[in-house]
Amino acid sequence: MFGDRRIQVKTPAQIHSMRAAGLVVGETLELLGSRVRPGISTAELDRIAEEHIRDSGAEPSFLGYGEPPFPASICASVNEEVVHGIPGARVLAEGDVISIDCGAIVDGWHGDAAITVPVGEIAAPVAELLRVTEEALWAGLAAVRPGGRVSDIGHAVETSVRAAGEYGIVEDYTGHGIGTAMHMAPDVPNYGRPGRGPRLKPGIALAVEPMVVLGDQASGIAPDEWTVVTLDGSWAAHYEHTFALTETGVWVLTALDGGRQQLTARGVPFGGPAD
Ligand code: MG
Ligand code: MG
Repeated sequence: MFGDRRIQVKTPAQIHSMRAAGLVVGETLELLGSRVRPGISTAELDRIAEEHIRDSGAEPSFLGYGEPPFPASICASVNEEVVHGIPGARVLAEGDVISIDCGAIVDGWHGDAAITVPVGEIAAPVAELLRVTEEALWAGLAAVRPGGRVSDIGHAVETSVRAAGEYGIVEDYTGHGIGTAMHMAPDVPNYGRPGRGPRLKPGIALAVEPMVVLGDQASGIAPDEWTVVTLDGSWAAHYEHTFALTETGVWVLTALDGGRQQLTARGVPFGGPAD
């Protein structure tokens, strides 16, 4: 389903186009995060997202994607739903968590990112799950080096999660290459040994997206044919960013600051414009 297995290498100008798409995604997620509260429906969040994406001059990439065609502009996955939840009449309640995944296209180039947002006050172990998952995302991004390998990312994600405690890392879904399509080669698993897979070099762009659960990692698909749920009902968190490796370092295209703060704190060269 991901077509050509070769990895698309982008020019610097093409990476700047991807940054435009990434910024729309990052800004949309920031807007949605500010709107999440008890009493709002996931359909309302989707409406806000589609309006903001289109007002930004972009197109929502999720709408109509796949088979059966995905019917919305975001994935809204609540509690034991891991990813690919379909927005609808469900109203968020105090103590829930919602993974919001968003994709946008600008001039044919894609951005893809996700955040997990607490709804009001959430239980301490769930708050810790969110922290651990977001930390694992940044650990994965910080493992990117020119000349390194794709599996270095998943190894860093897994190492970060394992160091934090007893969590499950969902294995049925992975990060992915991204560019002129949302899902391209290579797959980017969230676990495994380092030093394997394709080489990381300037011009590649990947989406990194750990999915971490409080119980067992096994997942299944709900009768709606999209929503991925944990089989044991344990709650899940999901964070995602799209990054590009440039000649100067790592540029997190869907982070509003390009990832500068997090990467610098981890000693990783920032690959965005110096401005
Ligand atoms: Mg996504
Ligand atoms: Mg993705």
